[in-house]
Amino acid sequence: MRLIDAHAHLDAHAMKGLTENYADWLSGILARAKEKQVKAIVANGTNPESNRQVQTLAQEHDLIKPALGFYPTEVEKISEEFLDEELEYIKKQKDKIVAIGEVGLDKKYSEGLLTSGKWKELYAKQQAGFEKIISLSEKTKKPLLLHTRKAEQDVVDMLESSSLKNPMMHCFTGKKKLVKTIADHGWNFSVPVTVLKLHQFQELVKEVPLNQLLTETDTPFLGPESGPTNEPANISLSVMKMAELKGITKEEMSDQIFLNYMRLFN
Ligand SMILES: [Zn+2]
Repeated sequence: MRLIDAHAHLDAHAMKGLTENYADWLSGILARAKEKQVKAIVANGTNPESNRQVQTLAQEHDLIKPALGFYPTEVEKISEEFLDEELEYIKKQKDKIVAIGEVGLDKKYSEGLLTSGKWKELYAKQQAGFEKIISLSEKTKKPLLLHTRKAEQDVVDMLESSSLKNPMMHCFTGKKKLVKTIADHGWNFSVPVTVLKLHQFQELVKEVPLNQLLTETDTPFLGPESGPTNEPANISLSVMKMAELKGITKEEMSDQIFLNYMRLFN
């Protein structure tokens, strides 16, 4: 079997509040991933510091493939010049990275600010930043790994007015109708390990054609019920579940996801 984790955060150990020493945690999850035949872990950056860490990790470990990005709620906090500078840096790194991520739009945190009127301004900033990121993907031909929380329709609208062929929706929880729209466009979904228990992701797997599906963990977040944290080795569980949903063997499922990964990320 050849398994793929198309979306993880390997520099975010501290954010999850894990008490284990970082080096031990990393070597542990990489060893267990190899044992389970995970062949690639796409590590996403969320800001300049995180992007540099992702690149260092990728240089040190063959299994780790770098994606550089700017997380939407981070884009809210910075100046336009600062964003431009980092996007210019990512552009220069294009031959050394597999994708641009994590990027997109997020309304979860902004919504609380609605009453103050500040919200509109922050969200507009996210959208202006995302516009530039879409154009970076058009220029570099690197796929976008998309965060769409509570802003699914807006992300789709912006992608529809771009020339992008291969964006990937990470942990997509938008409406069923929108899943169909995205699938009809030929765009991709990476399915989290929570497909084991969440009906919504099980329905998504049934709806989306096999050649548009990938697997992800969002390590160290979004773990399966059984564990306090998440790690790439858990892909073996979701592939089994996805195979069952599609009525094929887990070998057929993992082979197809591996091919999708090769097409999208290389
Ligand atoms: Zn993520």
